[in-house]
Amino acid sequence: MDRLSVEDRSRQMSLVRSKNTKPELAVRKLVFSMGYRYRLHSVGLPGKPDLVFRVRKKAIFVHGCFWHRHEGCKKATIPSSHIDYWLPKFAKTVERDREHLNSLGALGWKTLVVWECELKDADALASKIRTFLEE
Ligand SMILES: [Zn+2]
Repeated sequence: MDRLSVEDRSRQMSLVRSKNTKPELAVRKLVFSMGYRYRLHSVGLPGKPDLVFRVRKKAIFVHGCFWHRHEGCKKATIPSSHIDYWLPKFAKTVERDREHLNSLGALGWKTLVVWECELKDADALASKIRTFLEE
């Protein structure tokens, strides 16, 4: 059984959510190795996208599958306890993500969401990112 209290769990999860997470670092490294240069967490853009390509007006978000509820993904599990606590939290995160993407779109930015689980296939992810940046 999960012995963490809701508070502990919440604290643990907020660490997971903080910037410079592992998946984000992995995506940065990949994109850098592909020869692209970017800015990080551009202030002034909705949602502070993780990687920002100003000249191209494109932005990439790296999302953890659990927190951001990657649809149909094995990692997007639902905690077995405190469901009434987690579900609204998840809903809020998903809603906020959608708002950020919409706002960026309204400002003329193109966005790509990279899911944590996509890092398992770096080649496929690299070609997805290249297509996004070059289209
Ligand atoms: Zn996923």
